[in-house]
Amino acid sequence: MSETFQAIVIDKTPEGQKVELRRLTDADLMDGDVTVAVEHSTVNYKDGLAITGKAPIIRRYPLVPGVDFSGTVITSAHEDFKKGDKVVLNGWSVGESHHGGYAGRARVSGDWLVPIPEEFSTADAMAIGTAGFTAMLAVLALEEQGVRPGEGDVLVTGAAGGVGSMAISLLSELGYRVTASTGRLSEDPYLKSIGAANVVDRNEFAAPAKPLGKMRWAGAIDSVGSTTLANILSQTSYGGTVAACGLAQGSDLPATVMPFILRGVRLVGIDSVHCPKARRLAAWERLARHLDKAKLAAMSAHVKLADVPRIAADIVQGKVRGRIVVDL
Ligand code: NDP
Repeated sequence: MSETFQAIVIDKTPEGQKVELRRLTDADLMDGDVTVAVEHSTVNYKDGLAITGKAPIIRRYPLVPGVDFSGTVITSAHEDFKKGDKVVLNGWSVGESHHGGYAGRARVSGDWLVPIPEEFSTADAMAIGTAGFTAMLAVLALEEQGVRPGEGDVLVTGAAGGVGSMAISLLSELGYRVTASTGRLSEDPYLKSIGAANVVDRNEFAAPAKPLGKMRWAGAIDSVGSTTLANILSQTSYGGTVAACGLAQGSDLPATVMPFILRGVRLVGIDSVHCPKARRLAAWERLARHLDKAKLAAMSAHVKLADVPRIAADIVQGKVRGRIVVDL
């Protein structure tokens, strides 16, 4: 009899969807040229939306959710990978239309995999996960647009969440002075421990945005969207850059063009899902160089597969701090 492994499976029902822990075999996996023994996954905001059914993330049923994973290659017909290689995957619609990380095994295209830098374990790779990778892409975007340390504060919103925590840590390691915006002011000590110089209440960005506000930010990394992003744009200094990563508050953007046409403010979009391989490798190389592993450990908690549905509900309510690593 073939080996079985544990998995979370989402099925469609007349009422919506049901989420179950099941045992699968290799025969249940989808097409791909590399099979990976999954060691860790994570719970990202998108996983929360998928599992709770709050947004139409899942595009085929039944499906193993989990938009990222790390592990060890079991078999490979792909020229870049061989048995025993440590790999990480995020994006490429894994956990949306291709079976994802909440299973003991995954079979995927080797083109989607990235070798884990030797500085990181498979657990580190998932403590970083989609959130850390996205934060690194956002930092690269600020750098490429000329936002330099010492030229003013960089604002990070959704600060106590995954992308926010990772962005604070990376920016502070690179010498930027970081202001963290949070709805959880009780997390002030945590945010300062991972690198924030200053913590502000996210309500400061809650009122409808003026076309132009007082210039406060040399740059910003925003995982919130909506009115918050509109306020940030109106407060960004002349020539500054805002990297838009997320929509935890909303996908709308009630802003004017004034910051763009009168202050040369730049708004850069960040996408981790279809990010090309060369950019992925560059981002992981920078993560390996700059990420403080003590801070990474301080912002990460470990859970079991059976805990994932509960944490999925928590993350969409903004109740999760930092990063959640799922140990397979
Ligand atoms: P988390 O839930 O860990 O973080 C989101 C944070 O946003 C929360 O912790 C909270 O921070 C803040 N927040 C939540 N609700 C609201 C609200 N109504 N108004 C204002 N702030 C709010 O999620 P992730 O870090 O995993 O993801 C963050 C966002 O980035 C999500 O929208 C996600 O979809 C997106 N994302 C996009 C990617 C891409 O490729 N572009 C990749 C990864 C994520 P606090 O309590 O500190 O205020």
